[in-house]
Formats: sequence, structure tokens, C-alpha cells
Amino acid sequence: MHRQRCTRIIATLGPSSSDVETIKKLSDAGADVFRLNMSHGDHSSIGQIHSAIREVENMTGRAIGILADLQGPKLRIGVFDGDKVELVQGQEFTLDMEDKPGNKDRVRLPHPEIYEAVEKGTDLLLDDGKIRLEIKKVEKNKIITEVSVGGVISNRKGVNVPSAILPMAALTVKDKKDLDFVLDLGVDWVALSFVQRAEDVQEARDIIGDQAKVLAKLEKPAALYALDEIIALADAVMVARGDMGVELPMEEVPAKQKKIIRHARRAGKPVVVATQMLESMITSPVPTRAEVSDVANAVFDGTDAIMLSAETAAGQYPVEAVGYMDRIAIKVEKEPSYRKAQNKEETQLEPTSADALSAAAKQVASTLEAAVIVTYTTSGSTAIRAARERPKTPLLVLTPNLNTARRLALVWGLNCVHTQDATNFQDMIDKACQICVKYNFADKNDRIVITAGMPFGSPGKTNVLRIARIQSYHKE
Ligand code: PEP
Repeated sequence: MHRQRCTRIIATLGPSSSDVETIKKLSDAGADVFRLNMSHGDHSSIGQIHSAIREVENMTGRAIGILADLQGPKLRIGVFDGDKVELVQGQEFTLDMEDKPGNKDRVRLPHPEIYEAVEKGTDLLLDDGKIRLEIKKVEKNKIITEVSVGGVISNRKGVNVPSAILPMAALTVKDKKDLDFVLDLGVDWVALSFVQRAEDVQEARDIIGDQAKVLAKLEKPAALYALDEIIALADAVMVARGDMGVELPMEEVPAKQKKIIRHARRAGKPVVVATQMLESMITSPVPTRAEVSDVANAVFDGTDAIMLSAETAAGQYPVEAVGYMDRIAIKVEKEPSYRKAQNKEETQLEPTSADALSAAAKQVASTLEAAVIVTYTTSGSTAIRAARERPKTPLLVLTPNLNTARRLALVWGLNCVHTQDATNFQDMIDKACQICVKYNFADKNDRIVITAGMPFGSPGKTNVLRIARIQSYHKE
């Protein structure tokens, strides 16, 4: 159960990878969390994939995280007579609310919010930014544009409005139905797409409560202006480079990635880097050198998790793609410069017992060259603070709460074991030592550092740090 790396891997499931056998192979190859993309698939197929993941979890004995990614308010144009048209640079093109097929002069844009939020000079991007329209005039339910970058456009292509904050709810009617469904299934994380403001995260959190953790996908420029507020309200964030690369000039994305990772780490919130990490592996058994470098750089930046999308959902080499990510992360984490980079980022400790003891445990473990830091946690919050310190000593999390173990599967360096809580101080030491030996974290005579909260058996604050040594009877 002991991964050879701290960076976690998220694999999106889809037609290439939704049966038990393939999910088991993906898990064995290194996938720690599986993503269900609610933009694709109906509830019955999503339910089947969910059951298949839980079956694999039973087979492997390792807690697996499940992330349901809601589609969010994705904007789309309507359809064309003949399914597609060619737009030529310099021509006039109109978007309106009329419910009839489009042509080379106009198409339906059934989102009233856009008409209210845009003005002359605003750019509209179609089909992942391939086509660019500059707004010349806005009338009631009509936007007249000039095509600045032309091309062929077909039915229901996506629309992006990078420079405007759209007065749209974060959760669409479809999202709310999907959310009810995935919360009933019992997913561990819910990802929110196209978050624009901190209130969007709050709105979802009000519905989700403590049924799942909330991950905010950062892809809109507006979200980057409210970055710290969003990070503060979310349980984790994602650098969603797909739509971010449409909403922003692509050359700005790498610096945003580094900034988001820095801010999330400072706040102690897990961060995921996503999209096109090994894109060529959709059809090729080996990645490009540039892709390998991209994955390596995200790991060097100290991200908690790296994600595969179409590579595992619809590609021809899903297991190989996870295998490459696994090997790249293992290799990078062995580099002395990786450790230096993790220590370089100063984390400001907060005046809490969890922060005080996590920092102390890192220091004590390093001084004593302890084999492992063992953290007892019920909610998982102490373990996340311990991971924020990025210790070089491996972290073993013991929790009586299976949901906590599953949720922590997305967090840097946390190896979770679902076990009963300690009953007394000696039991706390013995249980930690026995589990360390059982899972090969430590051997006879090794020292380990334990943090826990007393009284045992009730969720509370971490208030104990104990150094222990593995005795021969722990090996029995
Ligand atoms: C992205 O845009 O990078 C992303 C992860 O979202 P999706 O795959 O839903 O487009």
C-alpha cells in the first residue's frame, strides 16, 4: 500500500477504463483517485463506474478517492443549417436568442446572461478559442460582432467570454441533479467548474455540507482575481489548464500554475494540476519529451496531485499513461533539488496545536532520522497540516473514518490506513508500531514519531507527540 512517491495521481474514467479489470490495473499502476466527469455519461453508467471503483478498493485494501467533476455553466451556441459554416476574418456575425438553425450570418446563443454582461469591444471565443469574435454592438438579445479570427464552426460549440464576470449561478439545473446523485452514491470530492467568485464555492458548500469535500476548478480569469478568497473557502483547488488556456493567453498559464500552487500550499489546501499532461498518449504508447517535462515540473512545483483526463478516459493506453506519471514523479522526488524546492517555500504556522505539532513532528523526525511520522486523525485536518509541511520523513495516517482515508487519497504524501482508534496511550503506541511494521514503513529498532489527540475515541485536537521505538513484539 506504500506508494514510492508523495505526489498523487488522479485518473479520469470513461469508455477506455470503466470496467473492474481496467480500474484495478490503473490502481496497481499508481492511480490514487478516480475522477467521474459529469459532462459525459448518464447516471446509470456513472453509478456502475462508482461501484466498480469500490469493488477494486475492496480487492486492494487501499482507500481510493472518488472525485465527481460537475459540468458547471458551460456556454454553447445552437446548431447550424447543414451542421457547420465557415466564418471569414472581417465579416459580420450575429448571435441572438432566436430558436432556429444558424447560417454564415448568425447563430443562436441561448444564454441571456451573456447579453447583459458584454459590451462593445469585448471578445467572444468559440470552439476552445479557435474562433475569435469582437463585439461591435449589443442590442436587446442580439450581439453583432466582427470575426477577427475565422474558421469552420459547427453545432453546439463552446463559448468563452474571458473578460466578463457573468451573472450566472455556479450550479446549473443539471449540476444540481448530478450533485444529488453523486452525493447519494457517496463520492469523496466534488469539483466545481467555471468558479468565478468565492460565493460560488459557498453556494455549493451550503448544499454539500460535510457529505463530500469541495474542489474549486480555477479556469476563469475572474477566479484568479479572487484566488485567496476561493482557496480559503474551498477544500482544494485545481489548475484547470484546458479552459484556462482558452480564457487566458496560453503563455500566461505556466506562471498562473506556479502562483496557484504557491498560494494553495501556503494556505494548506491541496492543489491539482490538470489537462493535457500526457495528451499524446491518447494514441501513442509513449509520451513526448515535452510532456514528461511538464509532469516533472508540476511535481517540482510541489503540487499535491497530477491528473489525467482523456488519456485514461478515452485513450488507447490508459494504464501506460498512469505508469509514466508514476515513474516520472518517483524519479523527480528522488532529486536533491526536489527536496530543496519543497523546503524553499516558507509556510507560516498558524497558532493551532495541529500546526505546532506537525512542525515539531517534522523537526523531531528529521533530527532522529525516524522511519515514519504516524498521525492519528478523525477528520483528516491534522494530516493535511502535516502534509503542508512537506516533511522528508514518510507520513502514515491512521483513521477510524473510512471517508477520511478516501478523501486524503488526493493529498501529498499521506498514506492512509483505516483502523480503529487507540483505546489508551500504550495502545496508541502499539497500534502505530504494528501498522508501521505490517505495511513496511518501519522495522525492528527503528524510531517513529506519533501525533494524536487525547482523550482517544472522540474527535478533538491533536495534543500529543510521542517518540517510540519498534520492539520485536511489534513484529509478531
Ligand atoms: C480543464 O478545463 O482543464 C478541466 C479539467 O476541465 P474539463 O476537463 O471539465 O474541461
